[in-house]
Amino acid sequence: MDLLACPMCKHFPLDLEVYSVEERYSPKEVRKCELYCGYHGSALNELGREPDCRSCWRFEIVDALLTCRRCGRWYPVIDEVPVMLPDDLRDRRKEREFVERWRDRIPASVRDQVR
Ligand SMILES: [Zn+2]
Ligand SMILES: [Zn+2]
Repeated sequence: MDLLACPMCKHFPLDLEVYSVEERYSPKEVRKCELYCGYHGSALNELGREPDCRSCWRFEIVDALLTCRRCGRWYPVIDEVPVMLPDDLRDRRKEREFVERWRDRIPASVRDQVR
C-alpha cells in the first residue's frame, strides 16, 4: 500500500479500509514501508515510532477499499490486487460485485457512486 497514489488526482496516500486479510505465517522478506504503512494506517512521519512492518508482511490484504480524500474517488482491492484505473477504464460490473459483497461495511458515499 506504500506506493499507491490516486491515478486521477495523484493524491497520496490513499485511505485504506481493510475488509479481509490472509495470514502468511513466515514472511521470507520484510521490507519496511517507506512513507505510509498500510498495517498501521498512518503516514510514517505521523506515526511517531518505528512501524511494525513484520506485521505488514505477515498479513496479505485480500479485499479492501481505497479512498482518495482529495477527489472522493474510490478503488477496490480485489483478491490482493489494487484496481487503480482511471475513470474511463473502470469496470462497473466488477465494482458493483465488490460493493455488493461488502455492502455492510462500504460507506454510503461509495455505494452512491456505483448505482
Ligand atoms: Zn509497514
Ligand atoms: Zn483522487
